[in-house]
Amino acid sequence: MLVGPSGVGKSTISRRLTGQLSLSYTVSATTRPKKPGDETGKTYDHVSRDEFFRRLDRDEFLEYAQVYGKYYGTPKHPALDQLAERRDVLLEIDVQGALQVRYQYPQALLIFILPPDEPTLLRRLTDRGRDSAPDIAQRFRAATREIHMAKGSRAFDHMVVNDNLDRAVEEIVGIVRQKRSSRA
Ligand code: 5GP
Repeated sequence: MLVGPSGVGKSTISRRLTGQLSLSYTVSATTRPKKPGDETGKTYDHVSRDEFFRRLDRDEFLEYAQVYGKYYGTPKHPALDQLAERRDVLLEIDVQGALQVRYQYPQALLIFILPPDEPTLLRRLTDRGRDSAPDIAQRFRAATREIHMAKGSRAFDHMVVNDNLDRAVEEIVGIVRQKRSSRA
């Protein structure tokens, strides 16, 4: 699982990882409206709040969380089907969701991605031009809390600093390969 604040580069890292490692990627459902850069069925399955709660009532989520006032959930069946076929599944989720998955699958690998520093994170959030100014401020405040919490938590197997994309991807590829060989 890749966890980390908004704007830290999780999606870019995920895309690179799925290209280099044999990993399945699941599309989360969210009540967050579509934003520039979102591609239906690729980034998110955008649903209404009612639909999200219908799916939740039917126990269709492996985990779910409320993040920045919107709901996000990993659909259970695609992920479990992949695991049944002994394929590793990459989840790009928030801390609350990651802890729920960790509880159900203690053997899951949890990697927290850190920005090099706070000003760089703020610049990345601003430069991607996707969120409004209040959204950016909310995400930045949440990020500082999340980073603080992650650093003080023992839940994460690894913390990787994304100061250089190639280096961060290389580090994670090494971590996943090591985990696979220790499991074999
Ligand atoms: P964004 O709106 O920027 O795409 O995502 C906001 C946050 O929600 C990010 O931290 C992202 O990792 C998290 N997120 C995306 N999908 C899921 C999910 O299925 N479950 C959980 N718990 N968090 C998610």
